[in-house]
Amino acid sequence: MLLDGHFAVTEANHYELVYNPSNGKSIGRTPLCDRLVVDQVVESAYRAMPKWAATPVVDRARIFFHYHALLEKHFDELAVIVTREHGKTLAESRAEVQRGVEMVEFACSIPSLLMGTTLPNIATDVDAETVKHPVGVCVGITPYNFPNMVPLWMFPVAIVCGNTFILKPSEKVPLSSVRLGELLMQAGLPPGVFSILHGGKDCVEALLAHPKVAAISFVGSTPVAQKIYTTGTANGKRVQSAGGAKNHLIVMPDADMEITVKALAASAYGCAGQRCMAGSVAVAVGKAGDPLVNDLVELASKMRVGPTDGNDAIDMGPVIREEHRSKVASYLQIASEDGATLALDGRLVAKSDGFVIGPSIVDQVSPSMRVYREEIFGPVLSVVRADDLEHALSIGAGCEYGNGAAIFTKSGYAARQFKQHFNAGMIGINVGVPAPMAWFPFTGWNRSFFGDLHIQGMEGIQFYTRQKTTLTRWPKADDSHFDPVWKSNR
Ligand code: NAD
Repeated sequence: MLLDGHFAVTEANHYELVYNPSNGKSIGRTPLCDRLVVDQVVESAYRAMPKWAATPVVDRARIFFHYHALLEKHFDELAVIVTREHGKTLAESRAEVQRGVEMVEFACSIPSLLMGTTLPNIATDVDAETVKHPVGVCVGITPYNFPNMVPLWMFPVAIVCGNTFILKPSEKVPLSSVRLGELLMQAGLPPGVFSILHGGKDCVEALLAHPKVAAISFVGSTPVAQKIYTTGTANGKRVQSAGGAKNHLIVMPDADMEITVKALAASAYGCAGQRCMAGSVAVAVGKAGDPLVNDLVELASKMRVGPTDGNDAIDMGPVIREEHRSKVASYLQIASEDGATLALDGRLVAKSDGFVIGPSIVDQVSPSMRVYREEIFGPVLSVVRADDLEHALSIGAGCEYGNGAAIFTKSGYAARQFKQHFNAGMIGINVGVPAPMAWFPFTGWNRSFFGDLHIQGMEGIQFYTRQKTTLTRWPKADDSHFDPVWKSNR
């Protein structure tokens, strides 16, 4: 863990093994810290708070300029760590690290972003101003699927706003966080401003209950996201909590089929389907259905699937764990039993030591089937057939999630209808993975997000600050008519 500016080996009663999903071998173990360690780390972050909050914002930003330079210098190494502990391809890891670096670029503009608003003479001789203050000790709890990017979604912004931050990374992928922390210390961040605490459920529960924690950012599965939100807010903390997804990709009959099929495959099978913005339901409208399924099967069958660590010639890597591989495979069985058609069966891909499963396409899926309703978080694309655009919109309207959705079409009318009416918070028009970059909020809807202020963009700044409004009146020293009561001019 990282405590008081130093890395220390934590002794714990329980550990979780860390694997290289490419070969199935264990490469480390994560200590699952208990309440006593949580107390130690929160106290350290709490102690560091006043001095850090009082540090001029320009100096806070300057540390992150140094950090940015270090991230650029170690870019390749950071990507290799992601591939090693997560299993995504090196190209995907590089894209992830790039998205993370952009968060630091956003955070570096904090002197401009943190400016308040003023209105002189709002009443006679009275000036009004609203400014942003930090909130206190902030906590980030992150998922396994973006070991580098999701921590970077949170701590650079929280810290430049003047908060101290405790990161509790996924116990499945702790290595990227540790390296991010080492580089942040090298950039010159004072001790206690950033801490890393490892653990699982018990550790998270202790953080949720801790009276000195002011704010919690969570990214993970929907059941846990909801629990974090309800428990955290009941304990008086501000919480932003991003959950799972079931992202729809609508294909209109006028879509350019070649471009669309490539975009759908990239969306559904990128990172082996383990992205909260992965397309998992293709809604084929009218006569788009058969050509779409045929071309997708052809393309996906040719994908090179296998271990990614040290192998650049792979299109799709393994999933995170053997249990997860089995879970993904079980959905193919369930889909067949529910009456869907397996157009491509990823279980048939060659066996390897890693946690590999090939891309799958399940056709003739209906919204009542489990394969449609539940987040699989693996390389499985369900295809639902729709009669027309209105039918496609109505299918989306019934979805309990609401992260991303995309449409592929040449029609401005269809695109506009889709943008306006589809039941999701992040929309792509001829874009298969409409994930907003650092400067825009990550606006999941429905059970894909619990809270008000999303991660990224100005909403992130709002989340990590509280506002203070001041009214000021300075009477002349000898003003005998000074009326101490603030009143209207009427
Ligand atoms: P997860 O919910 O299992 O774990 C996320 C974090 O919560 C981890 O740090 C874990 O230690 C902790 N945790 C797990 N169970 C807990 C419990 N019962 N009580 C308290 N804490 C607990 O998620 P995951 O499997 O690591 O990540 C995949 C999920 O994350 C998918 O559902 C994916 O859609 C979602 N995700 C969402 C977004 C988004 O922006 N909406 C982004 C990335 C991933």
